[in-house]
Amino acid sequence: MEKLRVELGERSYEILIDRGNLSLIGERLLRFSVGKKVSIISNPKIFELYGERVIASLKKEGFDTYSVLVPDGELYKDYFWAYHILTQLLEAGFDRRSSLIALGGGVIGDLTGFVASIYMRGIPYIQIPTTLLAQVDSSVGGKTAVNHPLGKNMIGSFWQPSLVWIDVDTLDTLPEREFISGLAEVIKYGIIWDREFFEFLEINREKILRKEKEVLIQIIKRACEIKTEVVSKDERESSLRAILNYGHTIGHAIETLTGYGRYLHGEAISIGMVYEAKLSRMLGFLETESLERIKNILKNFGLPINLPLNMDSSAMIKTILLDKKNIEGKIRMVIPEAIGKMKINFEISEEDLKKVLNE
Ligand code: NAD
Ligand code: MG
Repeated sequence: MEKLRVELGERSYEILIDRGNLSLIGERLLRFSVGKKVSIISNPKIFELYGERVIASLKKEGFDTYSVLVPDGELYKDYFWAYHILTQLLEAGFDRRSSLIALGGGVIGDLTGFVASIYMRGIPYIQIPTTLLAQVDSSVGGKTAVNHPLGKNMIGSFWQPSLVWIDVDTLDTLPEREFISGLAEVIKYGIIWDREFFEFLEINREKILRKEKEVLIQIIKRACEIKTEVVSKDERESSLRAILNYGHTIGHAIETLTGYGRYLHGEAISIGMVYEAKLSRMLGFLETESLERIKNILKNFGLPINLPLNMDSSAMIKTILLDKKNIEGKIRMVIPEAIGKMKINFEISEEDLKKVLNE
């Protein structure tokens, strides 16, 4: 078992990573001063696969166990389903000491965290992330949210989990495409922060793609470590956190223009990372050899690295300018100047961006 502690004073919590530990969550929950009532929040597909194991483990330790299921999909990460969960909790008599367990990917994690943050002004919750993306990204950091018709993740809060409990065996049932998509965020951590980790991923590609559990545990641990390191340093060194957005400026524009559906998030981010690296090479920062390594690692893991053929660069620039992260109509990005080292908040001209997108 691998363990990581996220230091946040009173809100500190642990991330535990293992295989086959899903059925031990009840025992672990006993260590927290939570009440008897616990509700699993999940979707029918994941609940069917893993719900019984979690419930049995909780019942064994004497917990009163409930479950609320939300249909599968980003579409249901909204206020109406949050309200539905709140209603179920009230009807079941949940109080301030009751707790929630998010069993699922980032959609379930974000929704559950949001509900936990507002139910009776905040109750404890545990993340059991079952997608690679959720295990290395969304379950860590305490950002919770639901979508609004006018924008993704527009309604939300910061609410730290009491525990992140990762069972890598759950990745066995994850669709291959979702797994590969999650790897894009893992590779991102290497590029933005840790050259050695990047090399580890290059060398261990086959083991990772075969889902060898020991290697998966190692990479998930390092990814979570990097995310928490960057987020905690940001409190002093403001704007460092922006490096987590590498690949996301161009990636989000691709997602927006292809209408969320053609590409999974990690796939769009993979293309974004390649073009943002190309931009850095064009500006004379990143060496050609490093750019080639970035392209190759992504390609060899099965991720896309080229913009779709019909993508119009003017429309992309327009979309990027609308991005909430730009200040006063200037395009700012984080770009890699070497593998493991980023240039933060770099101002990019529209002409340069256009040149790269048309390459
Ligand atoms: P997801 O939660 O939609 O899961 C992807 C698909 O995999 C779903 O169909 C789900 O039912 C299925 N699935 C999940 N686990 C499975 C398993 N073990 N076996 C079989 N199928 C399984 O998508 P995601 O990529 O995990 O998360 C995306 C969400 O995360 C977005 O809403 C995004 O906004 C959010 N997010 C949040 C943060 C944050 O900091 N809070 C960071 C990144 C992303
Ligand atoms: Mg992302």
